[in-house]
Amino acid sequence: MKTAIEETFISLKGRFRGDLLRPHDEAYAHARGIWNAMVARTPGLIARCADVADVQAAVRAAGAAGALTAVRCGGHSLAGFSTCDGGLVIDLSRMRDVSVDREARRGRFAGGCLLGSIDVATQQEGLVFPSGVVSHTGAAGLVLGGGFGWLTRLHGLSADNVEGFTLVTADGSIVHANGKQNAELFWALRGGGGNFGVVTEFEVKLHPLTSVVLAEALCLGDDISGILRRWRDFMPDAPDNLKWNLNLRIAPNTENVPADSRGRPVASESVLWVGDPEEGRAYLDHVVSPAVNRKVVSYLALQTMADNEFPHGRHYYTKSGYFKSLDDSSIDRMVQALATVPSPTTQIELAYLGGAAARVAAGETAFGDRSSPFVVNLLANWSDASEDAANVAWIRNLFKVLRPSMTPGVYVNFMSGDEDDRVPEAYRERWDRLVEVKSHYDPHNFFRLNQNIQPTKTASIKRDR
Ligand SMILES: Cc1cc2nc3c(=O)[nH]c(=O)nc-3n(C[C@H](O)[C@H](O)[C@H](O)COP(=O)(O)OP(=O)(O)OC[C@H]3O[C@@H](n4cnc5c(N)ncnc54)[C@H](O)[C@@H]3O)c2cc1C
Repeated sequence: MKTAIEETFISLKGRFRGDLLRPHDEAYAHARGIWNAMVARTPGLIARCADVADVQAAVRAAGAAGALTAVRCGGHSLAGFSTCDGGLVIDLSRMRDVSVDREARRGRFAGGCLLGSIDVATQQEGLVFPSGVVSHTGAAGLVLGGGFGWLTRLHGLSADNVEGFTLVTADGSIVHANGKQNAELFWALRGGGGNFGVVTEFEVKLHPLTSVVLAEALCLGDDISGILRRWRDFMPDAPDNLKWNLNLRIAPNTENVPADSRGRPVASESVLWVGDPEEGRAYLDHVVSPAVNRKVVSYLALQTMADNEFPHGRHYYTKSGYFKSLDDSSIDRMVQALATVPSPTTQIELAYLGGAAARVAAGETAFGDRSSPFVVNLLANWSDASEDAANVAWIRNLFKVLRPSMTPGVYVNFMSGDEDDRVPEAYRERWDRLVEVKSHYDPHNFFRLNQNIQPTKTASIKRDR
């Protein structure tokens, strides 16, 4: 008797236009890799699609054979959802076309694009799509979960800037979702993750921008708690043009860090002003000392400056949550935790959302909480599997201590693979509506390698063709 993956392979062989890679194929070892080595798996077949017809064929073949199926864009799922053991990976890395309409300030990009491919194409026309901060991240996974980055306060979440999706649903059909067609699906795709199908094209709004003002500084010792308190107090009244991110970490042993700071706990600050530099000067003076170096950087430089901090193939583990307001004791606990961090590359990332993202009504998209602006992401980052236990334990312990002060909710794209119980918490009052959409478009839970919304048996949604 043939296994489900053998059946899938036989069904696709001969008609699939992309690459079908099995464990004995030369290209398989490289194609198997995902960003987080901690969740590496060995799929039975990687179907690297050349076009939408290949995606349809792969979905139909795996569905008919009953093969476990993962979908991969950039492979950056912290939880490792874009791979699986023994099953099929629908790999979209050959589908990276981007087109830009400068006049209309609109763009389209394919379901396998990395953020970098979109940034390069849109910058050629002096435009940007608001996305994340590391250019090798996949756009599809990021946008479907919500997506935030440097421009979120000014232009909203990535998902807020999507006007239409084209996807292949679990029965292999092509469906369009936008404000006029399949409106419930359009709502669900803006935050609901990869639960509803394989998105093959995104239609998006673009904004003019080519450069920004950036100031970066390191704080040490007692100044760390002080800067966190100032950040907390300042951000609620800050203009949308200003984004101020803080990372608590051990200062690296690199040339750009003063020798006496290396290896010590620090808060690394990045303050961004998007707009007229003169207008931003007073705000930047208020936030960072005028002595701190500010520079005008190109948008592409901004979008790639963190790329080397999060390389492929290391071990990563994360836990995340929101705060409505950040109390002094949570600040002190995070700072104290740095004294025992097992890996020097681990970071406690702090961002303040608010701005345009917070002005979108709670029910307008499926994205989780927009009302709690402080986002904390505890991201352990280490190299050796023998250190997995110590790093995971450190994150879990710190999360446990912070959790009582957090507000319920979590950003789905910052969750690990061991947090199924938190998925309803991520969507809160949007959960039942998401279950309804899932039940209609994927009643057998074919797309289940994601922060999963399990279907129920009944759904009463109208589908437009
Ligand atoms: C280094 C790094 C930096 C990050 N920075 C940010 C950031 O600045 N802002 C932010 O919001 N998030 C950020 N994230 C989180 C990021 O949004 C998620 O990890 C996201 O899932 C990555 O998308 P991907 O396409 O690379 O993932 P993949 O691993 O390829 O896929 C992730 C999930 O999306 C589904 N999926 C992928 N492609 C499709 C598709 N075409 N159609 C349907 N489903 C699909 C997969 O099935 C899977 O469930 C970052 C992550 C990393 C690792």
